[in-house]
Amino acid sequence: MTEPEGPPPLLAGIEAGGTKYVCAVGTNPAEPLLETRFPTGNPVETIAQAVTFFKEAAESYGPIRAMGIGTFGPADIDPRSPGYGTILTTPKQGWSGFNVVNAIRDGINEPIPIAFETDVNAALFGEAEFGAARHHRNIAYITIGTGIGGAFLHDGQIIHGRMHPEIGHLIVPDLDKDFGKDTNVCPFHASCLEGRAAGPAIEARWGTPGSELPDDHPAWELQAKYLAIGCINLTATWSPDIIILGGGVSQKSGLLDRVRAEFEALSGNYWALPPLDLYLQTPALDQLAGIVGSLSLAQRLL
Ligand code: ZN
Repeated sequence: MTEPEGPPPLLAGIEAGGTKYVCAVGTNPAEPLLETRFPTGNPVETIAQAVTFFKEAAESYGPIRAMGIGTFGPADIDPRSPGYGTILTTPKQGWSGFNVVNAIRDGINEPIPIAFETDVNAALFGEAEFGAARHHRNIAYITIGTGIGGAFLHDGQIIHGRMHPEIGHLIVPDLDKDFGKDTNVCPFHASCLEGRAAGPAIEARWGTPGSELPDDHPAWELQAKYLAIGCINLTATWSPDIIILGGGVSQKSGLLDRVRAEFEALSGNYWALPPLDLYLQTPALDQLAGIVGSLSLAQRLL
């Protein structure tokens, strides 16, 4: 035993969303001890609020030993890049080119290790360590909200290629015509998953936000078909152990069961998959996945 006895190290996490920042500290990522949330304003003020929270938390709970940040994008998350920690070109005022990691490190003035990942990747880590994907080696995470994004974890490592995956832009067939519609909101593609099935597509197609559409509205049959196609294509491409459907749209009551049914119909029983109620799931951590994942990122640094 070389490790000295003592209290477990204090971890810090930031779920750095485009509309709100959530900051937390804890020794167990699944059970934050202290948390605060505030709107994402200009970068200098936003980081100053976060730094104030962490300094006060350190006075109460002891020194912070590591930090994990799950950020809105696009962002430079490559630790080998000279721009690591920077928000890339974004319409969010003042954030383009702003280095979040450097600003936090300067603010708290402690040489702690800081992990910087996308918010989707952070949520995936949370689900992998403490949520629906515990004990799985190959985990696909899709988030369906104002856009559609995704991330893949293989043996604890996020899979990046030349750049990160963009499963929102998987090309999908036009199923709108079966419903007398033709709504695709992606300006780049005639028919892609995000263009057909992200929140703005639902609202544009039916004239009402998805959150206000009743559970038996035909919108959900169409939505389930598009999401099932996305899940089929992920299964064919990578063969994960589990696919987690996160984001606001996925929380619609009854939608997950519809996706499973459509998936079964499309799959032709070709793959020897686990039962679909295990293979296709929503996040077990629900809205906490982002901050728990950010604290998990910090824990992985120690
Ligand atoms: Zn697209």
